[in-house]
Amino acid sequence: MTEELDPFKISQKQLYEACKISGCVSDVYNALNEPERFVEVKLLMKMDDGSLKTFKGFRSQYNSARGPMKGGIRWHPDESASLVKALSAWMTWKTACVDIPLGGAKGGIICDPRTMSNRELETLARSYIRQLADFIGPNIDVPAPDVYTNPQIMAWMMDEYEKIMRKHAPSVITGKPLPLGGSAGRLIATAKGGAFCIREAAKEIGLNLNGAKVVIQGFGNAGSWASKILTNDYNCKIIGISDSKGGIYNKNGIDPTKVLVQKKETSSVLGLKDAQEISNKELLELECDILIPAALENVITRKNAQNINCKIIAELANGPTTPEADEILFKNDVFVIPDFLCNAGGVTVSYFEMVQGYYQYFWTEGEVLTALDRVMTNAYRFVVDKAKEYNTYNRMGAYIISLNRVIEAMRLRGWL
Ligand code: GLU
Repeated sequence: MTEELDPFKISQKQLYEACKISGCVSDVYNALNEPERFVEVKLLMKMDDGSLKTFKGFRSQYNSARGPMKGGIRWHPDESASLVKALSAWMTWKTACVDIPLGGAKGGIICDPRTMSNRELETLARSYIRQLADFIGPNIDVPAPDVYTNPQIMAWMMDEYEKIMRKHAPSVITGKPLPLGGSAGRLIATAKGGAFCIREAAKEIGLNLNGAKVVIQGFGNAGSWASKILTNDYNCKIIGISDSKGGIYNKNGIDPTKVLVQKKETSSVLGLKDAQEISNKELLELECDILIPAALENVITRKNAQNINCKIIAELANGPTTPEADEILFKNDVFVIPDFLCNAGGVTVSYFEMVQGYYQYFWTEGEVLTALDRVMTNAYRFVVDKAKEYNTYNRMGAYIISLNRVIEAMRLRGWL
């Protein structure tokens, strides 16, 4: 049988498994296996060269039982309805896992922002919000950045929403630039949250982080900050880094700052002096202590799971591991920190951004990161203890916790 790689089907399969383990009836599974609402929009745009282009955009609002729905907007050529739905499901489990009072959603546009001018990016951002303004709002659904979107794009989106509503409404979106009500620490939050989980996992399995060998697949916001934080805070040694163009390896360690400079100049990690070039496939199978998938989904599958040669996998990406790979890794004693726990630092600081916005009182970066540490460390403990209690892998532990929290909220509201 070929392995299922459709992201939404994978998310449904994981949910089904979690329902089975926690003894939920099929009615509960049916109440949770599709988004509450899925909106698809057509975006028309005049490009700089005068041509007319149409883009497809999505917003999937998965579950609102625990609070306003929350989740990023991804701009990527491979974006699809299935992927947005899966990501919105994972956002639902993510906000529940770290126990912040929000639901789950996700958005996306099929496009390649790397080939677009600033004017084109701004036009696309504003047009997306005009099409979706009726469906989002500070108390309804609050978008944020994701792959290939950034604080500037959030600023344009916030501005367009406020123009439509004719009032200030900064909490319609998070991940904003600091002068527009963003939160200190938001840019590094995903990586920092993952690093707190890695710190706890290392204690758990008796791994000394000083000099621990780390491989990072993906060098976007999460991956690049993770390389810096793990080097600076824990003295880890980064031995491999890759991006969509390929990977680099040096068993004696790679200086993340040099890679950042290199990537800024040539928009690729390739070509760094003192490092050998390797393929993404080889990079994932390198012998190391900590492997960090920090790019896209389905990179650890039935095909390569057996060859993964690390002690901890810290999933900064969403959905990097398939269910079949999960089984293999569990058998091989690889300690997986599952995506919707490991990368929950981003949405947690987004929540702090909403809180600060409501009070119009802003915290220092130190205050934000201390609060983040508390949330992540608590969530980590709950997940790992739950997995042990059920003798299952950590992802299932996380699912059981999140599922129960969402079900409880739905029951209290009388939905179930
Ligand atoms: N896109 C990020 C995620 O996947 C952040 C979402 C948010 O801040 O709402 O968790």
